[in-house]
Amino acid sequence: MSERTSYAAQPDLQSDCGSCFGLCCVALPFSRSSDFPVDKSAGTPCENLREDFRCGIHRRLRDTGYSGCTVFDCFGAGQKVSQVTFKGVSWREEPDSARVMYEVFPVVRQLQELLKYVAQALDLSSAARVHRDLRRAYERLDALTRGPAETLLAIDVDALRGEVNPLLLRASELARADIPGRGKNHRGANLMGSRLRGAKLRGASLRGALLIAADLSDADLRDADLIGADMRDTNLCGADLRGALFLTQPQLNAARGDARTKIPQALERPAHWAA
Ligand code: SF4
Repeated sequence: MSERTSYAAQPDLQSDCGSCFGLCCVALPFSRSSDFPVDKSAGTPCENLREDFRCGIHRRLRDTGYSGCTVFDCFGAGQKVSQVTFKGVSWREEPDSARVMYEVFPVVRQLQELLKYVAQALDLSSAARVHRDLRRAYERLDALTRGPAETLLAIDVDALRGEVNPLLLRASELARADIPGRGKNHRGANLMGSRLRGAKLRGASLRGALLIAADLSDADLRDADLIGADMRDTNLCGADLRGALFLTQPQLNAARGDARTKIPQALERPAHWAA
């Protein structure tokens, strides 16, 4: 890959529903709640899944009570399991393979998420000192995702995460080294419902922080490390998230924002945000 190409923007790391057998809509369970109007068990196709594996209510998910679907991203796991692991043969064509396919999907989804983080770190020119190790980690993870089902099911994902996390942490530190707020450490902090309107959090670490329903409106979150932060219902109206590290589309989709919210170029403004 050339130096100028973005790792994180590779098609392999974006969900491609047209090449997937609707795996998130079959393999995963959900419960009746504010996110879903009904219960569904793992391995049961959602009642809205069409024959062509597309969602029959895709444009009306929030209006019909399925907001939980709008905050999910497989990071490319769906098409990889469908087309690579199971070589284009669906659970409808080969029902005997269905159970294993549903078990493999969440494993590959976690690996793809890890790949996405590694890719984002590889896109940080300021983290060049760890790029060689990151490239090795990327190649290893990518090779694992392309292995057979039985190999995938034997992977200890937590152990892999434990190996990759120090590299991501180092990349984050290097990227934030010259940012004035880099010393602000809220790693793993419970900030649920906190009033942080206008907070100066540029370059801060918010790794794994609980930001559920926190008011971060008009906050300066530029270059902040948001890996794994729980941003459900977080108020980001008017906040500035440009350059935020390890921010993902599902995190943005789960939060609230408006036309004034500034987001990293690589991410899309969620359709449900206020105008
Ligand atoms: S509502 Fe649509 S996106 Fe959500 S699980 Fe059902 S088919 Fe999939």
